[in-house]
Order: sequence, then C-alpha cells, then structure tokens
Amino acid sequence: MMIRFEHTHKFYEGAVAIANLNLEIQQGELVVLLGPSGSGKSTVLKMVNRMVSHDGGQIFFNGKEINSFNVQDLRRRMGYAIQSVGLFPHRTVANNIATVPKLLGWDANRVQARVNEVLKLLAMDPEQYAGRYPHQLSGGQQQRVGVARALAADPDVLLMDEPFGALDPVTRAALQIALKIFTELPVKPSYLSPTTSMKLCCWQPASCC
Ligand code: ADP
Ligand code: MG
Repeated sequence: MMIRFEHTHKFYEGAVAIANLNLEIQQGELVVLLGPSGSGKSTVLKMVNRMVSHDGGQIFFNGKEINSFNVQDLRRRMGYAIQSVGLFPHRTVANNIATVPKLLGWDANRVQARVNEVLKLLAMDPEQYAGRYPHQLSGGQQQRVGVARALAADPDVLLMDEPFGALDPVTRAALQIALKIFTELPVKPSYLSPTTSMKLCCWQPASCC
C-alpha cells in the first residue's frame, strides 16, 4: 500500500478544511479528486508531501507515518506538479527537469538521457526546448515542463494539482494519451491528481469517476 489517510483532519485558522478523510491508494493506482473550488483538493495533495501539516489523524506512506520521514527525503520520492508551475526562472528547461535527479546524485549521462525521455513523453522536442528558459515558453509548454520535472526522478508518487489547466484541448488530449501510456508501464508510480475538469476525468479508469 502506498498512501493511506486515516481519520485525517486539517484546520486553517480554526476553520475545518478536511474532516475525517479516510482513503487508501495502492501502488500504480490513479486517483482523481473531483470537487468544487475550495473543497480541499489541493490541501489533500499538499498534506501528502508535507507542504501543509495535518492537524489530526494520520497519513502513511509505505506503511510509515509521513511525519516520521526526513521531509526532503519524502519530497524527493514524490513528484509534484501544480497549475501555477513554479519553474525556476533562471534555469533552462533541462536544468529545471534535472533538479531532483541531480540532488539524488545521478551521473550526467543518465540525467541527460532522462531529461530527453521525459520531454519526449510530454511531446516536446529536446533539441528545440531543452536549452530555453521558462519565459521563452508558452503557458501550456511551461506546464508540460512542470509535469516533466515532476516525473524526472521516477517518483514513487506523482502529485498533480490541475497541472494541465492552461493547455489547449488538442495538447491536453495528446498529454492525456501520453500519461495513459505512462500509467501502463510495468513499474508505475501512484498518482493523486485533483481536478475540477470532467474532461481530465474522462480518460481515468472508470472506477475513479
Ligand atoms: P481546492 O484545491 O479544492 O480549491 P483548497 O484545498 O485550496 O481547495 O482549500 C480548501 C479550503 O481551505 C478553502 O476554503 C480555502 O480558502 C482554505 N485554505 C486553503 N489554504 C489556506 C491557507 N493557507 N490559509 C487559510 N485558509 C486556507
Ligand atoms: Mg486547488
């Protein structure tokens, strides 16, 4: 079992944001959180990698409470892609994507091969884009680089917070196909992706919708 919420609560300034969440996510499972704005989807994601703390109950990752991990170790095992992207503006596309692999001490050849691989997976030509800076990309391309960066280090868990919101429908469809293929690879990360978009939900396994 990959992630388990047990009686998890979250309060912001005394107001309840998450009340008694119980949810299990198995290895390789794709889970989509659907709900209106403000219903707590992002909060659930951020609690998993400890961007926000949980105030009650427990959250387990591979059987251990997430608070018992070193927070940096925990985050390196979890890719995180968000709608507002958060690319490093002073780093090229390649160096943005290489961030976690470099922290993990991968050798330069392996890093470069992986950068090219994830760029292609996200339908971006490495020759054209690897050397660019984020401000030289469209919003949708920045989002794709954000997802590529989240995937780069083969994370155990991929947290995606409406990562494709700014993409045009054609690109979004292509990405959805790419990610579908990705989820069918033999070794699969767990996904936790909130979205308010029914479109994004359509390509998820029927059990999610
Ligand atoms: P969603 O992602 O579903 O739109 P969020 O998880 O972002 O919802 O927010 C859930 C609720 O918690 C909302 O009412 C929001 O206003 C509130 N909230 C989120 N972050 C904070 C914060 N840092 N401080 C106070 N309230 C917050
Ligand atoms: Mg949100």
